[in-house]
Amino acid sequence: MGGPVLVYGVVFAACLLGIMSRPTGLLAVFWPANAILLGLFVRAPSLATWPGWAAALVGYVLADLSTGGEVLTTSWLTAANLFGVIVGFRIYCLLGSEHRRIGDPRSVLYLLVISTASAASGAVIGANVGPVFMDQSRWIGAVVWFTTELTHCMLILPLMLTLPGPGRLATAIESSFSRASVKKLVPVAVLGLSVLAAAGLGGPGAIAFPVPALLWCSLSYGISATVVLTLATTLFQLLFMIPEVPYAPGSQSHTLSMMSLRLGTVLLAVSPLTAATVNSLRRDTLRQLQHAANHDSLTGALVHGSFVEKAEALLSGEKRRSRGLAVMMLDIDHFKSINDQYGHAAGDEALVTVTELIRQNLRQGDLFGRLGGEEFGVVMPDVGRDQAQMAAERLRCLIRDAEVGGRKGGFRVTVSIGGAMEGPECSGSFEELLARADVSLYQAKHAGRNQTVFAAD
Ligand code: GH3
Ligand code: MG
Ligand code: MG
Repeated sequence: MGGPVLVYGVVFAACLLGIMSRPTGLLAVFWPANAILLGLFVRAPSLATWPGWAAALVGYVLADLSTGGEVLTTSWLTAANLFGVIVGFRIYCLLGSEHRRIGDPRSVLYLLVISTASAASGAVIGANVGPVFMDQSRWIGAVVWFTTELTHCMLILPLMLTLPGPGRLATAIESSFSRASVKKLVPVAVLGLSVLAAAGLGGPGAIAFPVPALLWCSLSYGISATVVLTLATTLFQLLFMIPEVPYAPGSQSHTLSMMSLRLGTVLLAVSPLTAATVNSLRRDTLRQLQHAANHDSLTGALVHGSFVEKAEALLSGEKRRSRGLAVMMLDIDHFKSINDQYGHAAGDEALVTVTELIRQNLRQGDLFGRLGGEEFGVVMPDVGRDQAQMAAERLRCLIRDAEVGGRKGGFRVTVSIGGAMEGPECSGSFEELLARADVSLYQAKHAGRNQTVFAAD
């Protein structure tokens, strides 16, 4: 029951907002209800049930009648409003879910096509209301309806589809404030200046002045921030720059040039929004590629190269630590015979089990990687020798006691651990430290395996 009530409330409130902007005898200048309803249904398709649509219908009708609308006009207006939304929603249903959150470079173009279809469908019925409201031809009525609807869809839909939910919005705002720096604010400052320059200089080309700055913003910030900035810029232009066009009451050419300017202003938003989606997709792909390049696909541990790189960074950044830094090498004992006895898949399972045990028992700031095959490396910064040896022993015992593949008759594995300490009295490069840990590992293997050996300082 909550869904239809929500739909009714949203439509009713949005209609009242629109009716307040309706000069007597004219169509509303600001009519957000259709775009909001379409955005709501696209974002949450579970609301678009028969009761949901009925609730929307009641919202439209009651808002109009309660503010003095006549039954016949209200019926025409509601039919036009709902028909446009239904067409837009039906087309959205044909698209993949990524387009519902503007997650693909083509999403903004689809949004434009859908908004055009929705606005045109509404205009077919809305054209009949034009003559009643504006004392102008059906043709002009259709153009005005179409432009107003398209403008609102292009302004409101991106916001409705990309705005994070309340919880995520709070964290997103918090994290962008914590990461904010003067350098990061330069694109938005340039945008502000270009909007002011456009307003100051005026002229027919002024609506395009903010486009370069908007593109810069779209390459600097995420999609949601770009949507908000584009919306703010377009609204500013629609409200404060377009009314500058000389007005000749009742003039058909004036109405058409106003519509043309409105459309042009809104269509300028397509490029920054598309650039933002391309950029955010590029960033996501890079992040995934980077993760795949740095992590082993079986265990998820760092691969050799990244492990060494991070360890070297840790070593050079740890010069002022009070205690030492421990490097350990862990190697599964007789792993070849485990593969031979239980099969390669069981061997893989053992590698995953060992990885999980090590990972769960490290502190934040410790480093862990798969050096190759059944060999792992651990770096513990800021530990004393005794503490490092105890940690290594704890890991060894945990691995020894764990069962691999318990469901179909499990087995156990053991590891040998070689360690080396870097400290105030024993410094060296990471390569040297790793080589010393490797010698200790060799000693642990020779001494009978399943044990820990730490190199003498
Ligand atoms: P030791 O106790 O001396 O370390 O003996 P070991 O058998 O563990 O050492 P060895 O180096 O002879 O064998 C390592 C084996 O690890 C050989 C190889 O087939 C196996 N291996 C390496 N990578 C993988 C992997 O990703 N999955 C599985 N299942 N086996 C692997
Ligand atoms: Mg081994
Ligand atoms: Mg080995």
